[in-house]
Amino acid sequence: MKTYQGIGASAGYAIGSAFFYSTALPVIERKQSNFPQGEIARLTKSVEEVDHNLQQLEITTAAKIGEAEAEVFGAHRMFLSDPSFITEIQNAIKTNSITAECAVLEVGNNLKAAFEAMEDDYFRARAADIVDVSTQIIRNLLGINITGLDSFTSPVVVVADELNPSDTARMEPQNILGFITRKGGKASHAAILARSLGIPAVVGAGDDVLLITTDTPLLLDGAEGCVIADADETIVAEFLAKKRKFDQAMEASKTTAHQPAITLDGVRVEIVGNIGSNSDAERVIEYGGEGVGLLRTEFLFLDRKTPPTEAEQLAVYQQISNSLLGKPLIIRTLDIGGDKPLPYINLPLEDNPFLGVRGLRLCLQQQDIFIPQLRAILQASATCDVKIMFPMVTTLGEILQARQIVRQTSEQLTAEGKAVGSPSLGIMVEVPAAAVASDLLAREVDFFSIGTNDLTQYTLAADRGNPGVQHIADHFHPAVLRLIQLTINNAHRHGKGVGICGELAGELLAAPLLLGMHLDEFSMGSMAIPAIKNEIRQWSVPQAEAIVEQALNQPDAESVRAFLASHIKTKQDQPR
Ligand code: PEP
Ligand code: MG
Repeated sequence: MKTYQGIGASAGYAIGSAFFYSTALPVIERKQSNFPQGEIARLTKSVEEVDHNLQQLEITTAAKIGEAEAEVFGAHRMFLSDPSFITEIQNAIKTNSITAECAVLEVGNNLKAAFEAMEDDYFRARAADIVDVSTQIIRNLLGINITGLDSFTSPVVVVADELNPSDTARMEPQNILGFITRKGGKASHAAILARSLGIPAVVGAGDDVLLITTDTPLLLDGAEGCVIADADETIVAEFLAKKRKFDQAMEASKTTAHQPAITLDGVRVEIVGNIGSNSDAERVIEYGGEGVGLLRTEFLFLDRKTPPTEAEQLAVYQQISNSLLGKPLIIRTLDIGGDKPLPYINLPLEDNPFLGVRGLRLCLQQQDIFIPQLRAILQASATCDVKIMFPMVTTLGEILQARQIVRQTSEQLTAEGKAVGSPSLGIMVEVPAAAVASDLLAREVDFFSIGTNDLTQYTLAADRGNPGVQHIADHFHPAVLRLIQLTINNAHRHGKGVGICGELAGELLAAPLLLGMHLDEFSMGSMAIPAIKNEIRQWSVPQAEAIVEQALNQPDAESVRAFLASHIKTKQDQPR
């Protein structure tokens, strides 16, 4: 029996067999081979098999998603029949007397470098394709099968080094009981997604995680952040009892979820959900959400080879609005960059991507991505209750520029005879500069939504995905709470509404504090909705106001938590 301790990222209990998920190639050492003909035969067989797999993928993708998305597999197949690629690998095997996998790696790397050095964007983008194809051949040569997170046929507990947003976008929750990763923090996107899907998760559990092998029996406690491998019968029995209790509490919490969150003195607070897909939207309704305060549209752009077209985006936004039964939907424009790269967007390599061309900054620079998205949202707004929200806003100038692009896009659509609405325009307040100068920004927008995940990492200078600084990156730190208070006050002074769509809004401990600060809208992963509504129902606004000053004057995050824990009115072991 062995215990792995990490950061509790998503509450809940999972019991099942491990599946070690890895997309990385093992280190390939330069190995000599004195039998070039044998290596060439291995290569030929592998290339044929990879070509066959790609052909299958091309056919199924064309049928399931569309011809345009399937094209990339055709392009990859062309490399497999390109003499400058395959003949060169064969020559490397013969000339250097090396194994087929070494030759593929070397030729692939050389071609990648050659493509990257080209002026033309199109050819530069081929570098990623050559890496992709080479990797597929090497995997085939080494007999490594890659199972995607969407392809499990029986439930497993996923063990991984790290899950990036495109991995998590592919998760099929019915077959993923939970996951544990070596890297990652509580506010990393894998953790956020796990909470919204109700998948128990542990992140940042350290190097030992990589020693867990597929099929090892695991018990995972997502609240405590611990995983036990090869547990004995007594521990399994105790664990099962806790899991049963948690699952029952989860079901019970749904019974009052559909009633509004009205305080003891009759103030109704808006409780909405954060989503990244249509199935998330359905879950928001199931858990009593009154709309959506954050649609992370980047999830529609990840895990594909080309961006979704205007028509595809329009269809998705309309479908989500339907799933929400017409309730309000805040669509955040693409927030790419930082920890969410896109393979088909030409992003320069940045030393500090979280401080780089991210969110609205990228959209203003690459308007060929921004404008089709705005066109889709504006058309959706003709019939659906949608608002537009810009991420990562830092300066007033960015807001003015974004607003002007929205206005021009709307005029263009009208000139084309297309129906458009006039959606409200809001911004995320997630950069400290935007919070500090929120009085200036409030004049130019219709609403604010505070992104406490980024606001915390930027205020405290602690990477949200780095387990080494998780003790610093705490959204209960008084510095973060004071910026929230300032932002709410400034918004209200200008008659503007303000929400929080960062993870703090779904924290039970924070509910009375945020109520006391007069937050208008709480937006969170759907599973948190019932408990937050329930806590708010136990308070009057004056009671909540009375705890704000003391909370903001605590010396650190830990004392804020302790202070709030002593005031909370519902049970803290409720599902979050
Ligand atoms: C945030 O930063 O708080 C937020 C909601 O946005 P994201 O987590 O997608 O960066
Ligand atoms: Mg953010």
